[in-house]
Amino acid sequence: MLCCPVCKSRDIFPVAGGYIGQVYLCKSCRYRGSFVIEADEADAGSPEEKEP
Ligand SMILES: [Zn+2]
Repeated sequence: MLCCPVCKSRDIFPVAGGYIGQVYLCKSCRYRGSFVIEADEADAGSPEEKEP
């Protein structure tokens, strides 16, 4: 499961990377970059993520 590093959305998917490697695009905030958060299914109980 991939998560957007900006808005923590899971509406992120890989696009054609080309020569710079894999690039991901977030549909929520339009973030585009090679860095994404790889999270497992179990995201509950993560002390780093405090969603209101
Ligand atoms: Zn995002």
